[in-house]
Amino acid sequence: MTYNPLRYLGEELESLRAQGLFRHPRVLEGRQAAEAVFDHREVINLSSNNYLGLTTHPKLIEAAMAAVERYGAGSGSVRTIAGTMADHVALEEKIARFKHTPAALVFQSGFTANAGTVSCILGKEDVIVSDELNHASIIDGCRLSRAKIAVFKHRDVADLRRVLDETQGHYRRTLVITDGVFSMDGDIAPLPDIVEVAERYEAIIMVDDAHASGVLGQQGRGTVDHFGLHGRVHVQVGTLSKAIGCLGGYVAGSQDLIDYLIHKARPFLFSTSHPPAVTAAAIAAFDLLQEDPSLMERLWDNTRYFKAGLERLGFDTGHSETPITPVIVGDGAKAMAFSDRLFEQGVFAQGIGFPTVPNDKSRVRTIVTATHTREDLDRALAVFEAVGREMGLIAPVGSAR
Ligand code: PMP
Repeated sequence: MTYNPLRYLGEELESLRAQGLFRHPRVLEGRQAAEAVFDHREVINLSSNNYLGLTTHPKLIEAAMAAVERYGAGSGSVRTIAGTMADHVALEEKIARFKHTPAALVFQSGFTANAGTVSCILGKEDVIVSDELNHASIIDGCRLSRAKIAVFKHRDVADLRRVLDETQGHYRRTLVITDGVFSMDGDIAPLPDIVEVAERYEAIIMVDDAHASGVLGQQGRGTVDHFGLHGRVHVQVGTLSKAIGCLGGYVAGSQDLIDYLIHKARPFLFSTSHPPAVTAAAIAAFDLLQEDPSLMERLWDNTRYFKAGLERLGFDTGHSETPITPVIVGDGAKAMAFSDRLFEQGVFAQGIGFPTVPNDKSRVRTIVTATHTREDLDRALAVFEAVGREMGLIAPVGSAR
């Protein structure tokens, strides 16, 4: 018999297939845009995080091309050796001004910004008090830090208080951490209450604004700005990969925090910095956010329109308050079948099941962008209606709801 120590992988994949949960990533042919071609099919794209349509904005493309011409394709080194280019510094200064913080630091991704920061500012004598639906990169950072992890119920400030009471006095330092906008439900953290409670326990407060930057707050400054909490959140994480339309993550906060990360955050220290094109495009994106308020206006107009349409049809859209609107169907296999059927009819809305969300809360997730037209959204709603009725997810025509 051949020696195959990885046989168990195939067995687990077989079990995924049997449950209808085995997925091939769909392949994008062409640009990441509101209407796009995936797997040879032209679809209305409700699956990207390209909130403002910046992935294909002429100003970002122009900036990226000019940077390649001038500085080449790669940075050639990690930041702490020879890979800090002038544009990296310019981008960080821009982000710090944008976030109203003394300093900022760019990481290779939002994932590494979260994981690298949490894991290095806390240690095994500390406790991390974390919303149960926080992003995987926060969870991995918590694990890497070796701190005690204490979870509070999703957006539940009374439960946060209970956990802080229970852990008080047993650990050296406390970090309270939450997503600003939750990526699977599109709901917003009750940040003013979280901050008020955390301050009473003198905790460090950290917010992951991956889905809030470019979306919420003045000119897209995120949840801290949205709630008027400047100066009270010690660590703000953002991403350059979603509304900013490029790739990367960042941390904004005090000069000490940033200097500490430069010396200790492992992804920053041990992984090569961004190529010039990415940095230049991100700089152009922050300029655009400040110059062109119509981008955010269109995003929010489309959000209200599409959300109201789904609700009118009778879909369960959970507690979303942002452009992320889930359509919750329950069972995992059903969510995947719903997503596949929508796709066949020309709408790409990704199916999401366990372990990303609990199995009985499986869903398709929709994200509208500033660049969807009304016609796109009307067509998408018509397809949701037809497929929803066909699959019995909403009531048949004519029946009372
Ligand atoms: N935080 C949250 C809440 C996210 O949804 C994501 C992206 N899925 C990240 C962090 C990671 O960002 P990036 O894609 O830039 O690594």
